[in-house]
Amino acid sequence: MSGDPADLTIAEAAAALRSGALSAADLLAAVRRRAGATEAQLHAYLTLDVEGAERAAEAADAALSRGEDPGPLAGIPLAIKDNMCTRGIETTSGSRLLAGYRPPYDATVVGRLRAAGAVIVGKTNLDEFAMGSSTENSAYGPTRNPWDPDRVPGGSSGGSAAAVAVGSALGALGSDTGGSIRQPAALCGIVGLKPTYGLVSRYGLVAFASSLDQIGPFARTVEDAATLFEAICGHDPSDATSYRGVPPVVRPTLEAGPEGLRVGVIAELAGEGNEPAVLAAFGRTLEALEVAGAEVREVSLPSIPYALDAYYLIAPAECSANLARFDGVRYGRRLPGDTVEQMMAATRRDGFGPEVTRRILLGTYALSAGYYEAFYGRAQQVRTLVIEDFARAYGRVDVLVCPTSPTTAFAIGERTEDPLAMYLADVCTIPSNLVGGPGISLPVGRDGAGLPIGFQVLAPPLGEAVLLRAARAVEVLAGFAARPALATSEAR
Ligand code: GLN
Repeated sequence: MSGDPADLTIAEAAAALRSGALSAADLLAAVRRRAGATEAQLHAYLTLDVEGAERAAEAADAALSRGEDPGPLAGIPLAIKDNMCTRGIETTSGSRLLAGYRPPYDATVVGRLRAAGAVIVGKTNLDEFAMGSSTENSAYGPTRNPWDPDRVPGGSSGGSAAAVAVGSALGALGSDTGGSIRQPAALCGIVGLKPTYGLVSRYGLVAFASSLDQIGPFARTVEDAATLFEAICGHDPSDATSYRGVPPVVRPTLEAGPEGLRVGVIAELAGEGNEPAVLAAFGRTLEALEVAGAEVREVSLPSIPYALDAYYLIAPAECSANLARFDGVRYGRRLPGDTVEQMMAATRRDGFGPEVTRRILLGTYALSAGYYEAFYGRAQQVRTLVIEDFARAYGRVDVLVCPTSPTTAFAIGERTEDPLAMYLADVCTIPSNLVGGPGISLPVGRDGAGLPIGFQVLAPPLGEAVLLRAARAVEVLAGFAARPALATSEAR
């Protein structure tokens, strides 16, 4: 094998494993070396499962040497956001409240990856309970951006994004409630896919906002993201919201190209609110699509300016209900108190960080008697308008596009004192969570400081085939091949 196996894509690594050019044990060792060389700066991981990963790599090597076809993920080192349950392995959701919590079971997605032969390297850092856009809300300290360690990796799945960007995992899982897969993918220069609501089981995901949460993959290529998506999607009787039909088939049309594709540019999200470098890279990509035979037109979705406001009522309202279960009795840490109420109050006051506390207060207020209709009810009406706008647009175009994030990676600390500035990081990603359709971000260029710029493609619910076809077309046209400083530095 020439080169460092930690730099391989999942498809390349799978081919090397099958041909015998590489063993799963050597691949794991390479990924661990990369983690060893970068973690002190990056802090992408909260927990490494050293023994479990070794056992899984051995099992994959044994299957390969028996000449079995163990599938596309056998022996592939992957990382899991720390809000997904892993049996016997600490699962903190980035919170002090869950410090030391070891779930008695694997989340369905984790079980599916293990069954596919994947090697779970460890659990990645996140904003506490997935609330945030920078991974600075983690109770365990921030993750840094591998392109520039003075900047954030995005969030809330910043650890997963940074690990994949730097090569301390070949792929990863994240969760996306308002953009937490796509926005960190954009800021770290990799691919991040939020599948259709209901296509991937949330059983074993620590719930944030249940009408919005969705698990999805990070990878370095669209094809790899498709491979991970195929491995984790499909009905799960343990998740009452799981889609019962046959999941979309994405592979046959992946390479169908941009010709004839009807691409709608979201007028409300593709204009002045974005940094000039982001707009320039977006515009260049549109031109390339047009030259390659796509039909590009502008589409207006007039309710979009209200989507962020609706999200910041709906998501906190749902989180205030979901986080009620962290009461000091059933999970994680407990602080003493003279009465049960005092114990619960002390545990929650100590266990939740400021952003989570803010969300619980906002959400409780929005749901309280006398305010329910004015806040939560209104937000749900806006959500319906957004759904209708998208449905109308998809009557005319196959996919919708806009930048993933209005800015490239911002500095550590830049927005921590200003929650509204932080919330704006997700202005382009939140609408599709309200709608439930799939979305993907992929890198298409870099700004003057060398930071990656993400391009977002959206499709109607269950439209993963056309979504991934469009994304693959953009990937070919953009030809983004740069790697972050930390993945290539000699200092490593
Ligand atoms: N940044 C958004 C929030 O703070 C979205 C988070 C997410 O998708 N989990 O709510």
